[in-house]
Amino acid sequence: MKDKLQKIVRPADLIVVAAVLAVAAVLWAVLAHLTGTTAQIVCDGEVIATIDLSAVKEAYDVTLDNGVTVRVEPGAICFAASDCANLLCIHAGKLTRAGQSAACLPNKTLIRITGRDRRGPDALTG
Ligand SMILES: [Zn+2]
Repeated sequence: MKDKLQKIVRPADLIVVAAVLAVAAVLWAVLAHLTGTTAQIVCDGEVIATIDLSAVKEAYDVTLDNGVTVRVEPGAICFAASDCANLLCIHAGKLTRAGQSAACLPNKTLIRITGRDRRGPDALTG
């Protein structure tokens, strides 16, 4: 019985397995790209910044004209500082997934993560 099992695994089968794994890897890469997290900073109803979070290598802060500071991190975005009274925006914490959003109503500022990935320069050059 053991002999038979060993004969079943031939080099050709390994190639098939490798091909399946390669296809799976490509699919994963495509899906990861499609679901790539794109963040938007919306101020007073206007999108003032669109950031591809999957391309962010190091965290940085964006300070807006209204005094709100938004922190951009690899794969995440959050309010870092604001002069509003209740600081609900800060307490909202980090957004990491498509569909999530946080707002600072007193400053009319919204951050959100959209699922759609814009067609833009590829990050393969890094
Ligand atoms: Zn706020």
